[in-house]
Amino acid sequence: MRLILFDIDGTLIQLSGVGRQVMGFALDQVFGTAGPIDDYLFAGKTDRCIIQDLLSTAGVPSSQIVAGLPTVYEHMARRGEMLFDQDGLVACPGVSKLIRILSQRQDVALGLQTGNIRATAQQKLKSANIDPLHFRFGAYGSDAINRVDLLPIAWQRARKNLNLTVNVSDTVVIGDTPADIECAAVNGAVAIGVATGSYSIDALARYHPNHIITDFSDTEYALKILFS
Ligand SMILES: [Mg+2]
Repeated sequence: MRLILFDIDGTLIQLSGVGRQVMGFALDQVFGTAGPIDDYLFAGKTDRCIIQDLLSTAGVPSSQIVAGLPTVYEHMARRGEMLFDQDGLVACPGVSKLIRILSQRQDVALGLQTGNIRATAQQKLKSANIDPLHFRFGAYGSDAINRVDLLPIAWQRARKNLNLTVNVSDTVVIGDTPADIECAAVNGAVAIGVATGSYSIDALARYHPNHIITDFSDTEYALKILFS
């Protein structure tokens, strides 16, 4: 069984500023500030990490940040429900077809490994017309501060919830940032970098993923890489 985990922003769906708006609104509601959110680099980070960084820069004590997290996530889910309209976001080239094909294979379990919290992850996918139900397990932005910690959590859920035998070398992590590549490498999984987000092919190459791909528009080639 091959476990294939996709990042969302810049990997399955094209980048948009809506996620930043959703988080800014939620932080403002709960803490009265979103810190330096307009200049902050979101790419590759978990929401848990972003919230921590923004609020500590704004001088909010750690204990208060931790105590406010559940309320922030609730506000994000509610705001996201409004802002991530149906058809509002756009899937990256070739993604819809590739996911459809992969979801029908008996030798594949599709998962998500994303910095988004679960609620906004699902909202974003639906908005881009990708069925969240194709992804049978995953790890999310509220699960860990550091992205490298997401994969072990996703594995644990694959074992527990799907009863899958997890094979480290049969796990593929696909993402658009150095953080996705690092997460795969640190945990012994196969790393595939895709240049549909904030990083070019050359920029991703510096982090030595096992494969780099421009986008998924060539389905045959994408499948070849995924099962090589
Ligand atoms: Mg991404």
